[in-house]
This record gives sequence, C-alpha cells and structure tokens, in this order.
Amino acid sequence: MEETMEGNKCVRVNRNYIVAIIGIWFLGAVPQAMGQDSPYEVSPIVINVYSLLASNPQVKKGVDAIKVDHENTIVEQKQICEIPAPPFKEQIRAADYQKRLAALGLRDVQMDKEGNVFGLRPGAGKGPKLLVCAHLDTVFAEGTDVKVKERDGKLYAPGIADDARGLAALLSIIRAFNASGIKTVGDIVFCGNVGEEGLGDLRGVKALFRDHRDIDGFITIDGTGADKITYLATGSHRYLITYKGEGGHSFRAFGRPSAIHALGRSIAQIADLKPPREPKTTFTVGVIRGGTSVNSIAAEASMEFDMRSDNERELLELEAKFLEIVKKAAADENARWRSDKITTQIKMVGDRPAGVQPPDSIIVQAAWAATQIIGQKPKLGEASSTDSNLPISLGIPSLTLGGGGKDDYNHAPGEWFDPTNAYQGPQRIFLTILGLVGVDGVSEPLLSLRK
Ligand SMILES: [Zn+2]
Repeated sequence: MEETMEGNKCVRVNRNYIVAIIGIWFLGAVPQAMGQDSPYEVSPIVINVYSLLASNPQVKKGVDAIKVDHENTIVEQKQICEIPAPPFKEQIRAADYQKRLAALGLRDVQMDKEGNVFGLRPGAGKGPKLLVCAHLDTVFAEGTDVKVKERDGKLYAPGIADDARGLAALLSIIRAFNASGIKTVGDIVFCGNVGEEGLGDLRGVKALFRDHRDIDGFITIDGTGADKITYLATGSHRYLITYKGEGGHSFRAFGRPSAIHALGRSIAQIADLKPPREPKTTFTVGVIRGGTSVNSIAAEASMEFDMRSDNERELLELEAKFLEIVKKAAADENARWRSDKITTQIKMVGDRPAGVQPPDSIIVQAAWAATQIIGQKPKLGEASSTDSNLPISLGIPSLTLGGGGKDDYNHAPGEWFDPTNAYQGPQRIFLTILGLVGVDGVSEPLLSLRK
C-alpha cells in the first residue's frame, strides 16, 4: 500500500481540519482519526462537500434515523438470513427482498431476467447514477439450517453476516433517505443482486452492467465493519479440467492410457508453477475426482483449478502456463502408450476480472471523509474479490464497504455476527452516497457522469 500512496496527487491540506469541522457537529467531540501516522490526503473539493453536508440538518436527521433504526435493522437481518438463498437458488429471498424495496417507496421496483431485484430513488435530474447493491446469495447448499440463534449478544447462522447484514443495511439506508426527505442531485438505484459467491461468478452484476450502460458509480455492501475501504479487485479464473479415455481392466487392458495418470502428470507440473509474490498471484488444484475401482484403468478424471491475481496481466500469464501444462499432460500420457485416446476437456467455470483504481480517486476520498464523520478511523483495504471487481474492471468508480458490526467464520457453518454499534455501517455508506450523488441545493455531486 505504501508504494501506491506515493502516486497521491491531492493537495496537501490540514488533515485534522475535516475531522474538526465535521466531527464536532455530528458527534460532539473530535475523534482521534487521522493521526500523524496516516499518509492519506483528502482533497479540498471533498472536504468542502463534506463540510456542507455535515452542517445540514436533513443530513443529520438521516444519520440519526439509522441509529434509531438499529433494532429494526437487526430484526430484518435475521428474517432475511432465515430465507435460504443457495447459489442459483436465490429466487425466494429475491422475491421477498423485492417486496421490501417496494414497501420503502422506490420507483420501478422490478426483478430482471438474471434474478436481480432493484428500484430507483430518482434525483433532481442531470446528476450521476449510483448503483448500491448487496448480494442475495449465500455459499450454503440447500437444506442448510439457517435458523438464527442468539448467544452472548451475538447472532449465529450461516449467512447472517455475508450478506444478510449488507441486505439489511441497504434497507436501513433507504429508510434514512425517507426519514430525512433529502433530495439528491443524482439518481440512486438500490439492488439486491444474485450470483456473487463461488460459481455464481458475478452473474448478477455482470447482467446489471450489461443491461444498464448509464451507471456512473457502484457501491456494494459486503462484509462487516465501518472503517475499511475496499477499492482494489483481485481477479480470478477457475477451470474444470476433465481427461477422458477408454478405460479398461487393469490387467487385461494394460497398455491403454489412463485419465488419472494424465491428471497426475498435469498436477505434478502445476505444483511447480512459480507465480510472482508481487503482485500477489496464487493457484491451487482444489478438487480432484476420477476412476471407478482399484483394478480399472481410469476412463475419466477431473480437477477444479483456481488462480488469482491482483494484476490482470499476471493472471493471464499464469493461465497460459496452466493451459499449456494441461494439454501437454494428455499428450505425454498418450505418447507413453503410443495412443491417442486420452482427450482433454477444458471448461472455464469462473471469470472475475482484476482491476485497480488510484487510492486517491474521488470515490475513495468520499468514503474516507464519511468514515471520519462517523468517528471511525478509515483504512484502505487490500485487494479482494467481490461484486466490485466487474465495475472496477470497466473503469467505473466502485467500492466494497462493510455493513457495520463484526463477524467471523463466514462461509462456514459457525458464522456469527456481533451487532454492537452496527448502525455505523449504514451511516457511513449513507454519507458516502450523499457525497457522491450530491444533495440538491446543498452540495454538487462528487461523482462525474460516465463519458
Ligand atoms: Zn459476501
């Protein structure tokens, strides 16, 4: 992170200024944020917008409304969590969420062909359009017990944080808009999207950005906390590789090539791949299958392969080497037995593009200022793989922000959520949104229209 910070082009300003003018008004005290250890600079234009917002009574009303709404948000979070939403089976939760969006007065609430549900909160006109999402799907298979259990002030259930929290926080933000009566300059589309996890492969956001070419900015509420700003996207490619042959009796048909042996040759070479440490680039063969019995030459064997990188070029380079190995292993196994019977099926099952934005981009600065206002110490997150990957790769300003509270063991049956002060999550996102789309008669939008 240090290296990228050197590219910071912001004008140097008194960092504590924004905290002082905003912090006192909202919180009655200057928070400890932005100490001398932080190298981050917020530009005067962003400081100006946030000082205008911070001194506006309607904005304060919205921020306060989110705190008052805390218990209600937790109730909804539990309700949403208890509607199962396995990958590709988000329909029931989506239909429920669509009703919740409509009940909050959004315009044109609808479900698209992919299964995303969304509605519009129109602005005054001629402003940017911001898409705010939380993902409907979980990683958990059908039949998983998703009943929420409470113990020692924590909520336990698969999916209670990822992303029932994001979905509930999003609804709380819409209620804050309604309570405050704020008229934004730009439009906001609020959305529960499908297909974020695993083999869902971002199909929800891919459809949204394919069908709507007028989106100028993107926020996804994913994970918890109210201090981290995720603005870098780790790309991933995933493959299902299947070798097929004739198979046969291990003794009588000896001499035929084996699908498992081809797979073994392949994995042995993959294991020796050496991707760069920086930018972080990784790989693993996560699953293998194949064969029928101990005394049979395997007719089929397959592997699932995952590779990731913070840099798209490194990802593509590693992919090229991987594919070469996969093909060569089949050729080697055939050559060993002077055969041509082993064939290779290559299926790409995951494609999440990598992408970068400068740390001083306007959307990151807006989130930084918003984080300070709620009294948290902002920090730039490492690259990660979320719905933001897709818009970041398209050059659209995008962030992944937590929905507040704390969690652990997500993607595992022991997932828990601690709701202490969780309202700070939606408060921060509410303020980030206001800065980006602008408030009519108060502040200009920080987000520019897409060219
Ligand atoms: Zn998630």
